[in-house]
Order: sequence, then C-alpha cells, then structure tokens
Amino acid sequence: MDETVSATAASIADAVNAKARSAREVTDAMLAHVDAVDDRVGAYLTRLHDLARAQADRVDARVAAGEKLPLAGVPLAVKDNMCLTGTRTTCGSKILEHWVAPYTNTAVARMLDAGAIPIGKTNLDEFAMGSSCENSALGVTRNPYDPGCVPGGSSGGSAAAVAANEAAIGLGSDTGGSIREPAAFCNLVGFKPTYGRISRYGLIAFASSLDQIGPFARTVEDAALAYDAMAGHDPMDSTSIDRAVESTADHLRTDLRGLKVGLVREFDTEGLGGEIDAVYKKAYADLEALGAEIVEVGLPSAKYGLATYYLIAPAECSSNLARFDGVRYGLRVDAADVGAMYEATRAAGFGPEVKRRILIGTYALSSGYYDAYYVRAQKARTLIAQDFRTAFASCDLIACPAASSPAFPFDSKSDPYSMYLMDYYTIPMSLAGLPAVSVPCGWVKASADSSPMPMGLQLTSPIFSERLLLGAAHAYERATNHAALRGPAVGAPA
Ligand code: GLN
Repeated sequence: MDETVSATAASIADAVNAKARSAREVTDAMLAHVDAVDDRVGAYLTRLHDLARAQADRVDARVAAGEKLPLAGVPLAVKDNMCLTGTRTTCGSKILEHWVAPYTNTAVARMLDAGAIPIGKTNLDEFAMGSSCENSALGVTRNPYDPGCVPGGSSGGSAAAVAANEAAIGLGSDTGGSIREPAAFCNLVGFKPTYGRISRYGLIAFASSLDQIGPFARTVEDAALAYDAMAGHDPMDSTSIDRAVESTADHLRTDLRGLKVGLVREFDTEGLGGEIDAVYKKAYADLEALGAEIVEVGLPSAKYGLATYYLIAPAECSSNLARFDGVRYGLRVDAADVGAMYEATRAAGFGPEVKRRILIGTYALSSGYYDAYYVRAQKARTLIAQDFRTAFASCDLIACPAASSPAFPFDSKSDPYSMYLMDYYTIPMSLAGLPAVSVPCGWVKASADSSPMPMGLQLTSPIFSERLLLGAAHAYERATNHAALRGPAVGAPA
C-alpha cells in the first residue's frame, strides 16, 4: 500500500504544492487503495475514477502555473446527498437510485476549487435518516475497526472512507448528529459548523432548519482546512449567513489556558456504564490539565431535545420529500392515473424509516394537531437555545459525550426509538444551531469478548465561534493523541 493514502490532508497538500508529489500520483494511489479495500468496507456507492483523474490533472496544471491550493491533491469522499454535476446522487434511496445531478453543491464546488479530488460518493442512511447507515437501500457500510459493527450514521460512508484511508477528508451532513456520531464510531474528528455557515445549495434537504454540512478528518487541523475552504456566504442558499468568516486552521491552540469549560449537570455519564464513564471523566480531567477551568452548567430543557427533534425534523422532511412524486426526479412507477402513480412511486421508492418520518411529520403539521405538536416543539426548541445562551454566560465551551455508546453490531437496534436515543447528546446543539465537534477520546469494550472501539468527546461553543472551538479541539487532540492510537482497521498501513 502506498503511504500517501494514510497521510493527512495537510501533508498531502504541502507535498503537492511543493511539487514533491503530483495530485495525479496521489489520486492513482488512492483509487488503487479504494479498489483493493472497499469491498470489505462498503464506504462508496459510486467510485469516480475518471472524474478524480481529470480533476487531479487540473490541480497539477494549476500548481505548475504557480498557484498554491490549500487542499491540493487531497482525496475527498462526498456523502451521496450532495449534488455533483454528472454523477449519480442517490441519497441512499431507491427513489433516486439512478438520478444524475445536473449541478454541484456549493461546499463540494469550494472543496474542488481548493484542490480536492472527488474519489467517490458515499453511503448514507436513506435521506440521512438514521444513526447506523443500516437504513440505506443501496448498500451495507462496515466499521473499519470491526466489520461486525456499524460505522454510525447517517454519514457512515464518509466516516468509514476516511477511517479506512479511502479518503483524507470526508463530507457529511449533520441534522441531529450525523457527522459527530459516525466520527466518534470511526475514531475521527467530525465537525458540524454553526447553522448557515456552509451553504446547503445542492444538499438534498432532509430538515432544512437543521441540516448543516461539515468535514470528517483524521486530525483537527485537516477538519479546519476543509472548513476554511467551504465556509462563507452563498447567494444560492437564503439561509447561508452573510458575515465574515474567521479562518480556523491558522489559529489552532496548544493549551486551554484562560478558557472555562462547562460540564452539563444533566449529562452525567455514570448511567452509561463504568468503562464509558471512566473515559469521559478522564477526558474532562485532561481538559483541566490543559489549563481550562471546569465549571458546572445546566441545560434543563435538553431532556426535551429528542421529542422536539422528532417532531420538527419529520415535519420538515414530510414537506421536503413531497417533491419526490415520480414526475420530476428519479423513479416513476406507472399506474392508472396520476394519483395512483404518486402512490405507487412513493410506496416502491421510499424505505420504512423514511415512510415513518413522512407519516409522523404530516400528522404533526395537520390541522388540529399543528398547535399541539409542531408549535409546541418550536417553543421547546427556543427554550433549548435559551439554555445554551445562559450556560455560555458562565463558560466558553461545553464538553460532553458525542454518543452514548461505541459502535454497535448490525441489527442490534431493532426498534426505532433505541436508534433515536443514539443522538441524545448531539440533538440539543443542532436545535440551537451551534457549532460542535467530536474528537477521539478513548477506546471502550462494548462487551467482554468484543474488541475495543473508539468514543468521541463532543465540544460545543456559541454560534460563530468556530475558531475558538477547533482551536480548543486541537489542543485536546495534541495532548491526548487518541486518534493516533488507532487499533487495527481495514485499510490501515500493514
Ligand atoms: N440520527 C438522526 C436522525 O435519524 C440524525 C440524522 C442526521 O443528523 N442526518 O434523524
């Protein structure tokens, strides 16, 4: 195996900019690696050999002409709910299985403009609804650290790709935890920026008031480079924020002196089991050892997060997914009249979880129930955001788990509710629109005979404080180095 496949994005870009390595060489090595290992991982739904090589040649030509590109030659995995002109963009759904995107998502376009190479489109829970990738209608993705376990979701394919060295950066979308939870499960850094920081133009919508694109990477520095390339206003997305972006990659810290880190009273980890509790207690002690002052904060309304999210997200999904009707996009199942065609198409095209969400969402929005469910959920959302504002009056950052357990075996969460619980710690930040990052924080055995699996520490901070957040995450990563203590994984150097 060529060593560049496990190199960081920062070192690949340095080598390509210095002309020590061509983007084409890096790309060819990466495509060969993907072809050698992805049958065991299943990260990619579509491999983009031709597009990747053509982009690599363009990058080499720009570098030859004297340009310095922040992501020169960096292999990129793109979640398959992001449009990329001329490529199949499926959302992991039968309804879009053969749909080819006619335009490119802004975040992807910015990554490519910064020199990244699109290696392929990655698997996901159908329409990004799920926490394990098991809701994909188009493929199985395995956790590179234990092929019997899920990679997390919904952005599980991008996480597995980066963990198996099948890309240096992965793009995910996070609506309630879909970047942070798979990052934790796959020993990666996963970063969800402030809502509105990265354009959603060309991201196929699940819940528009929550969806946010962000990177997976093997280091905080790489995540920062990707964020810096993608962030910023886009007139094509009316929710994208027109406000100057603070760069992050040049402000990474090595200590936490002068910062107050809040531990959430309601997020006590003792109930998660002794080993997991010990991992988080150690992580908090490490933050303190880096110079942070630890304070206790309260998020009294966070306990309503799941209930709130599972009204708002399905309500928005029922509206967003109405466009998949057999007329304009993807699958059409012909029937006697147009109404029957809609029904037959949607019955055949959507999987069970998507149908469940559409039903719940349509119900919550319907006349007579709208005030009882949807409006009350919006009020609870406001209370949760208010809780964070109060908490941030007495701290700079909040630290808590990214997920309540490590990666679990396939088919082990048979009822939807136990799957929904995976996002207990990530949903409140999504409802409040906050930036949040998961950083590897230790390894835990889920049972006596299983191998240790990674866990993630979640850090969150006020809106627009990405520089502070990634800076602090970098200090913790440098001091603890859990990601570098990688166990044996599919795709790791021999
Ligand atoms: N797991 C959550 C859900 O199923 C969050 C998904 C996401 O963030 N896209 O909705």
